[in-house]
Amino acid sequence: MIVREIYPRSILSKSKVFDYVVNPYVGCQHGCTYCYARFMKRFTGHKEPWGEFVDAKVNAPDLLQRKMDKMPPGRVWVSGVCDPYQPLERTYELTKKCLETLVRYGWPITIQTKSPLVLRDVALFRESDKIEVGLSVASADDRVRQLFEPGAPSTKERIKALEELHLAGIKTYAMIAPMLPGVEELAAELSKKVDYVLLDRMNYHYGDWVYRKHNLESTMCDGFFASTSKKLASDFARQGIECQVLF
Ligand code: SF4
Repeated sequence: MIVREIYPRSILSKSKVFDYVVNPYVGCQHGCTYCYARFMKRFTGHKEPWGEFVDAKVNAPDLLQRKMDKMPPGRVWVSGVCDPYQPLERTYELTKKCLETLVRYGWPITIQTKSPLVLRDVALFRESDKIEVGLSVASADDRVRQLFEPGAPSTKERIKALEELHLAGIKTYAMIAPMLPGVEELAAELSKKVDYVLLDRMNYHYGDWVYRKHNLESTMCDGFFASTSKKLASDFARQGIECQVLF
């Protein structure tokens, strides 16, 4: 893993998903096979394989505060093209320091991660009534998770993290995307652990080789995504959990 410390000039970017997005790191140690964020390599000049480099934006917390002083408040997505709680966050605490500022200013925040390291900051989340925390989960089958997301925490750890956050009174959601084989069982696994769920299909082709290698091609077609999302939406509806299909 190649780690560099960098001092960017921007940190609070406009986003099409929410008002703003903050990415405290360039690159992601989780290195998911299908990750769309690998396009960042083109913009940052990285030649290393995705998942094998991380730039830590060590000035991010100071820079964020200066930018927030000049911008109108809005919802901030943490993060869009890296996991804000990837392992290096344990050392650098850049996400935590950025969140401290966002909470102090009272801006709404949507966190999205695959890591139970997010539990470290529960006390901070409880200081805000405008924060929601999401864990991305793509399959209830951890063997499938290992094929597509070998560097990320297990499915079980993520679901447990959602449960603990929910019990702590934090608004939680599950980003069920991309829907991988074995995703069908997630409705039962997430029961009473989330306030809402988002469903999306596989939209990128970076991980097609994994489907081919393991004879899973039947689960990357329109039919699979349509029927599976319909079943999940109905399972979540029975539990009274709001489910939004994004495709
Ligand atoms: S955790 Fe998210 S940002 Fe990181 S590699 Fe996986 S999909 Fe990409």
